[in-house]
Amino acid sequence: MTRERLAPRAIDDAPAAVAFATLFTSEARAALSALRRDLHQHPELAFAESRTAAVLERELATLSPVSIARVAGTGVVARMRGRTPGASVVAVRGDIDALPIQEATGLPFASANAGVMHACGHDVHAAWAVGAARLLAGQPAEGDVLVVLQPAEETGKGAAALLASGALDEVAAIFGGHVDRRFEVGQVVAQPGSLAAAADVFEIELAGRGAHGARPHESADPIVCAAAIISALQTIVARRVNPSTPAVVTVATMHAGQAPNVIPERAMLSGTLRAVDKDTRQLLGTSVRQLAEGIAAAHGLVATVNLTLGPPPIVNPETPVMWARAAVESLLGADALVPLGITNMAGEDFAYYMERMPGCFMRIGARLPGEPVIAAHTPQFHAAEESLFVGAAVLAETARVASAALARGDTAAST
Ligand SMILES: [Zn+2]
Ligand SMILES: [Zn+2]
Repeated sequence: MTRERLAPRAIDDAPAAVAFATLFTSEARAALSALRRDLHQHPELAFAESRTAAVLERELATLSPVSIARVAGTGVVARMRGRTPGASVVAVRGDIDALPIQEATGLPFASANAGVMHACGHDVHAAWAVGAARLLAGQPAEGDVLVVLQPAEETGKGAAALLASGALDEVAAIFGGHVDRRFEVGQVVAQPGSLAAAADVFEIELAGRGAHGARPHESADPIVCAAAIISALQTIVARRVNPSTPAVVTVATMHAGQAPNVIPERAMLSGTLRAVDKDTRQLLGTSVRQLAEGIAAAHGLVATVNLTLGPPPIVNPETPVMWARAAVESLLGADALVPLGITNMAGEDFAYYMERMPGCFMRIGARLPGEPVIAAHTPQFHAAEESLFVGAAVLAETARVASAALARGDTAAST
């Protein structure tokens, strides 16, 4: 992949540019691009986003918000004034953290921090939240809008920390999105139902008996037992989960032994479980425990299984989706709304907000026509700059539509 191919094109080449030219002045577009590039160049890991938070606070302060608060350490919440005091409050959220990956995009604003990279597009999410704040400052929603810059999405801890702070207690509905290079700039996925999977972690510790490598009969071999467990775990999705239900069981780490002639005492396995509904999520966890413990016992070992629950699935409810779709249609036309197509088995901690309040999570196209699809969490990933303006405008307009509907007496949880 050449540097030219990955370099962002001029903003004016973007298909959505015409639609957004009326929303952003060229100065505002340049400022937003500069902000995104600055964030991209200075990525910070979960809960260490101190520079990022300071930059975002500074940008938001220029938009005359009602208030700006530091929340959950490196989170920032700006309150944009609505037209009607006392009207329902809605929130738009952008996550701000980066990943421990060495960047290899060749972008002129590539990461200056070795081993840390915005490989999930949160640089764009942070900037589009600021862009939404700018649009809402110019054309306010009915009620106040909280612009939420959330740390630590990648560790699945940031949303929970923000909720625990109480900063979102009065929010009636929340909206967010993720850049996605499977879709072109100007395409938006806003649909009811499953948008992201539950992402739980399992760890299996096998305690056996070590021995000389030449005398296996004196051991309770954790390596052979681990191999049997790994094979058996493959039967969970194949034989226990309903074939029409998406699910993933991945063993991703395996640690045991130090010398070729020593049977070790212990082995450790860990991996991830993905499901898009509550029952399947529970089945995966129960099955891992049952198989690991049973197989270990059959091999004369003891398995200790730890399950750490990550974000639950995101299931978009109908009414907030309707508001988001209305916003997208008014900005980009009905053709902009595209189906997700394949179930998304990645986790997303926006799900924690959705446990507490209604909302809609969207996928926002981030590839220019002719550009390659690049997976997030890889050293080559970057979102096309133009997705900034789509995300900002869609979030701001969705907040306005939702706010107006709530002011009319509609309730987000009505369906
Ligand atoms: Zn990510
Ligand atoms: Zn992400």
